[in-house]
Amino acid sequence: MSTVTSGPASLVRVFGRPMDPASYVLRDFLSRSVAQYTWTELATDHDCLRALGVPLDGVELPVVQLPGGERLEAPDPETLAKHLGWVVRPSTDVYDLSIYGAGPAGLSAAVYAASEGLRVAVIERNAVGGQAGSSSLIENYLGFPTGISGAELAERARQQAVRFGAELLQMRAGLEGAFTDGLLRVNLSDGSVMASRSNICATGVRWRRLGLDDEEKFFGAGLYYGSGIGEAPQCAGQQVVVVGGANSAGQTTMNLSQYAEKVTLLVRGPELSRTMSAYLVDRIAAQPNVEVWTGTTIRRLVGDREIMAIDLQIGDRATVEVPATRVFVCIGGEANTEWAENSDLILDEHGLFLTGNDLSPAMLEGTWWLDRRPFDLETNVPGFFAIGDVRKGSIKRVASAVGEGALAVSYVHRFLAETNSST
Ligand SMILES: Cc1cc2nc3c(=O)[nH]c(=O)nc-3n(C[C@H](O)[C@H](O)[C@H](O)COP(=O)(O)OP(=O)(O)OC[C@H]3O[C@@H](n4cnc5c(N)ncnc54)[C@H](O)[C@@H]3O)c2cc1C
Repeated sequence: MSTVTSGPASLVRVFGRPMDPASYVLRDFLSRSVAQYTWTELATDHDCLRALGVPLDGVELPVVQLPGGERLEAPDPETLAKHLGWVVRPSTDVYDLSIYGAGPAGLSAAVYAASEGLRVAVIERNAVGGQAGSSSLIENYLGFPTGISGAELAERARQQAVRFGAELLQMRAGLEGAFTDGLLRVNLSDGSVMASRSNICATGVRWRRLGLDDEEKFFGAGLYYGSGIGEAPQCAGQQVVVVGGANSAGQTTMNLSQYAEKVTLLVRGPELSRTMSAYLVDRIAAQPNVEVWTGTTIRRLVGDREIMAIDLQIGDRATVEVPATRVFVCIGGEANTEWAENSDLILDEHGLFLTGNDLSPAMLEGTWWLDRRPFDLETNVPGFFAIGDVRKGSIKRVASAVGEGALAVSYVHRFLAETNSST
């Protein structure tokens, strides 16, 4: 039985079988929420009896023990969040501004909107922080010369937004919305309806899958998307693999190299420097336990319940099987805009929102009713803005997402003034 502590003090305790996907999902959620927790692997009846007082078949794992001592059996992140008191009810029926997504873009918009007196609600379907929350170390964000973990940056932004009066409505997703009587009404996944006079969509992107057979089966049992920040300590002494050639893959590689015996970075392209920032390329080259394999594609995940090996295609040679127990996939994202596909909002071929000058006059017909062109970050529906990674043409950086959050709020003020609808 081994126990790993995350955070300076142990408040929440998670118990589960080694390489168990459901335990991984909980730990990932807690890590991204900057919660302090311990993780205890229960491999045998003896482990389980010692930790929980019952044999393995006497309890439904994973078990989460809350700070007050209450135990939850096999909770999902939503249930856990509710028991931790993180899920609150909206305080009002109509907001000046609703923001969907609490990544850097949404949190920034929340800070500026709330600090400038708007009634604002932020709706987030999972942990606060978005993709940035899964970054082990952000080194290029202004003001943090030695870097800051994405989860900590997000937690600071959350506190700042809440301190100014923004309401954070976590563990709910926006499903579909419509403008009626000057209000945007969005059906949320918890069955409630959010009404607001203006809206900012900051729903970002989610990790792209490899597109391999059995991918879902291995998720959390050796296969992880993104940096898997909560998983890194479990990689001690192991040989692990990272897939991807951009900065997120570089950061993940460097973070894992602090724990694993060896990290192999698989890059499809001919060289790393084409897609990764120079500072990360240099770090990787200088790290003795990291190897970079260019021109390499992963073809198959091999194993029964857990990954044991992977098949690789290196150049145009025949595939080779390489031992690997943990694979971290960082190959970019797909827009979180499925909900908008059947709406009047205009998306490009990748599902990203078109805004501002990307919208031709013909595209505005039928939805645009104001006597001006859309603002830079405004979609083809007046008062509906899109910012950060979910917007076509955005720069995929924390700083630009934060900047767009601030800029969008200035447009929100102008929209509310011209439609005379601010509270
Ligand atoms: C591992 C990693 C490392 C990175 N490192 C850096 C770095 O060092 N420097 C840098 O500048 N950039 C870095 N980036 C990129 C940066 O994190 C992104 O550009 C930035 O997070 C985009 O912010 P966003 O708010 O637009 O979207 P996201 O961060 O994607 O946030 C979107 C949020 O919306 C939520 N959401 C989605 N759909 C819904 C819905 N229907 N209802 C409610 N909520 C919803 C999601 O759960 C998520 O929390 C990194 C990215 C990753 C993945």
